[in-house]
Amino acid sequence: MYTIIIQYRSLQVCFKYMATAAIHSFHFHLLKGPATVRALSTIKTSRIEFSIRHTQRLFPLPLHFRRAMSHVNARNDEEASAKAAAANVDSGAPTIFDKIIAKEIPSTIVYEDEKVLAFRDINPQAPVHVLVIPKFRDGLTQLGKAEARHEEILGHLLYASKIVAEKEGILDGFRVVINSGPTACQSVYHLHLHVLGGRQMKWPPG
Ligand code: AMP
Repeated sequence: MYTIIIQYRSLQVCFKYMATAAIHSFHFHLLKGPATVRALSTIKTSRIEFSIRHTQRLFPLPLHFRRAMSHVNARNDEEASAKAAAANVDSGAPTIFDKIIAKEIPSTIVYEDEKVLAFRDINPQAPVHVLVIPKFRDGLTQLGKAEARHEEILGHLLYASKIVAEKEGILDGFRVVINSGPTACQSVYHLHLHVLGGRQMKWPPG
């Protein structure tokens, strides 16, 4: 039994040496190859990333710093999904908002009349975050597609936003945002006004 353990241990040592030798010769080949710089920088980067992660576990970053970092990630995701959404803009395909208008998918409705629907955003960016949309899209996939015939509905959407602000108790200060096109991070191609409030807003927006 004792002998077997020793053999097992010496096998382990042997494998360890073999693995180390293989890694060394791999590095040696890398140093000779054209991908040397890239490979070394990858190794270096992963080491830096590891040490940052390790350090964060030991010494957690302040909350505001972590919030700022997650904001950068979120923004990058938004940009990517906005670009993907923009690819289908002119197909006329129904959007998720058509399903909300048809009550095929649930939403929390805040205000409704014969022309517009206002419902809570599923991913709120403020204590109050309501979307106001025309029930009949009529080519208004985005504000950038507005034509003279849309004047009335555009005015109605703005007035409905004020009614929403009043109902939500934020008339003392609120913001109305329209993202138009991929550069503005529009992700749903059915015109919509974001009504935001309930917290101190900053300027300029991101
Ligand atoms: P935008 O990025 O300006 O096109 O805004 C689209 C908004 O629609 C985003 O703020 C989303 O959070 C919101 N949204 C997407 N799907 C839903 C949904 N099913 N219910 C409520 N809001 C939604």
